[in-house]
Amino acid sequence: MLPTEPDLQLLFARLNYQYFNGTAPDCRIRYNERFSNSAGRITYGAQLTIELSPKHFRRYPDALEPTLLHEMVHAWCYAHFRDTGHGPRFKKKLRECGIASIYHDLGNVRPLTESSKRYILRCEHCGFEALRRKRPGKPASCPRCNKRRFDARFPLTIYEIVETRAVGTTLERAAHRNG
Ligand SMILES: [Zn+2]
Ligand SMILES: [Zn+2]
Repeated sequence: MLPTEPDLQLLFARLNYQYFNGTAPDCRIRYNERFSNSAGRITYGAQLTIELSPKHFRRYPDALEPTLLHEMVHAWCYAHFRDTGHGPRFKKKLRECGIASIYHDLGNVRPLTESSKRYILRCEHCGFEALRRKRPGKPASCPRCNKRRFDARFPLTIYEIVETRAVGTTLERAAHRNG
């Protein structure tokens, strides 16, 4: 069974105490059922949000804690250094957390590539999300909250996805289904 979202917040608090001396910034942590090709991601907006794939962790429950830790290292690097990549500072801190490789936390599936940057447009009112390759050039409002026209009451917040991590190929998935 997957931990509940409140349990994830408790896990976050424990890891924060254990590895960051409490200096990892507050993050909203939630599951996103729509993830199909990444185990976890962090988005840097007004609030830091860590999202985890329930599909992935139902299959690889042991990978949940190290994946959360991986995302927490991103949050920590961002909060203290505005550093968002997998660079030397990230790797050093990850090693201090006892994770040797940036990818060894993904169960027994291997990553292929990290995708290029993308944007998420999210309605904070209803949770609607749309992915975009480019940052939108003009104001947009939620198409679900107001289907008819632009509505400034329901603006879409732009989030930059700094990472998505591939966790397998569709071939592996087919093999898994058949086996
Ligand atoms: Zn909406
Ligand atoms: Zn990462």
